[in-house]
Amino acid sequence: MRFDTLGLCAPLLRAIEERGYREPSPVQAAAIPAVLSGRDLMAAARTGTGKTAGFTLPILQRLYASGDSQAHRLRALILVPTRELAAQVGESVAAYGAHLPFTSAVVFGGVKINPQLAALRRGVDILVATPGRLLDLYQQGELSFSALEILVLDEADRMLDLGFIRDIRRIVEALPPQRQNLLFSATFSRDIRQLTKTILRNPLEVSVSAPNATAERVAQWVYPVDKKRKGELLLDLVQQCDWQQVLVFIRTRQGADRLVQYLQQCGIDAAAIHSDKGQGVRSRTLAGFKCGEVRVLVATDIAARGLDIAQLPQVVNFDLPTVPEDYVHRIGRTGRAGLSGHAYSLVSADEIKQLTAIEQLIQRHIPREYIGGFEPGHEVPASPPLRKSRTGRQQAPAGRPVAPRRRGQSRSDSRGRGKPGAGRRAPNRRGGRRPGQ
Ligand code: AMP
Repeated sequence: MRFDTLGLCAPLLRAIEERGYREPSPVQAAAIPAVLSGRDLMAAARTGTGKTAGFTLPILQRLYASGDSQAHRLRALILVPTRELAAQVGESVAAYGAHLPFTSAVVFGGVKINPQLAALRRGVDILVATPGRLLDLYQQGELSFSALEILVLDEADRMLDLGFIRDIRRIVEALPPQRQNLLFSATFSRDIRQLTKTILRNPLEVSVSAPNATAERVAQWVYPVDKKRKGELLLDLVQQCDWQQVLVFIRTRQGADRLVQYLQQCGIDAAAIHSDKGQGVRSRTLAGFKCGEVRVLVATDIAARGLDIAQLPQVVNFDLPTVPEDYVHRIGRTGRAGLSGHAYSLVSADEIKQLTAIEQLIQRHIPREYIGGFEPGHEVPASPPLRKSRTGRQQAPAGRPVAPRRRGQSRSDSRGRGKPGAGRRAPNRRGGRRPGQ
């Protein structure tokens, strides 16, 4: 399919061409015509699928088609859960709308309100906002929703996780009842369905990214390791595989800071991104990571949610997440928009239950590899047979994934059947064979 068959105007097609997109992603192919038809839409799509353009392009098209480009009254509101996602969606709106006469702004908490007020007072057609700051501004009388035509709830599941439900309801109550509603969510949980019932009207339902789809795109490994040696193993991987840009997920903020300190002491440019860090620091860190100044970015789930870092080659799960769905979000940071990626999980003895839950969710077994010199005192056994998921068909265990560029492995066991501790540090670690060779 081509973009020029979707009913988008020339200024939008030009912006798409400038971004270098050749064809619509599946969510775009499904969502763009649906939004243009004027219907409400609920789409199951996570970050990395191209969902931002999936709603931004048809919104711009609709505003363009209905004229009224001079007034700069708020006509489309995009609610997002985090500041980082707000900034990224704001950038996308500006980029896709570069050749159209609309104005846009981004508002989120944790930064001074005055520049945001100034932008709003100049008049905006499209506003990207986190719910809390938006409510503040509305209650201060700085916003009018009277011209609002389109509401987007982006990453709705995460907004619920972060406790924004009451703010969302209060915002929705303030909007004109006649409007188009678009909801994007990684999953359609019961809570999400409940929310859609009260906000959306007879929505079209689009689902393009089952957990399996993400899991299939990304080559994954489990590296069993003792908990206290995870930092060392990570350092070894970064150095031996010469990883220049790696996103590392970790459960706690304190853990993130400790790991960064350790890596820095070992001469690796590392930085942490989590909710204790101020917005300025977070933005600078992210910019540093994107441009290659920061080699290892250590992030908690909430901070990393929605980060758009094009073509991230690999991610590491330093800890496994307690919520299995977060594993899918995490590995979705790599292998973006049709590219393949690599995800490595450092799994200690206390995380085997979480691993089993993850494998059940993605409906596949993740191959285990024991790294020479880091064999733990425990085995990570193959998980029990996969139960058939409600939506997906059962899949065969993943075959051996494409080998990552790394060295120094004494033993590999793609089904996790080997005995722990049996491996030896490879005699020639530096020049040793690579997994898969
Ligand atoms: P999103 O899921 O909206 O966060 O987008 C993920 C990444 O895919 C972003 O870096 C987009 O710039 C990129 N992208 C979006 N649509 C396309 C497309 N049709 N072709 C190639 N890349 C795309």
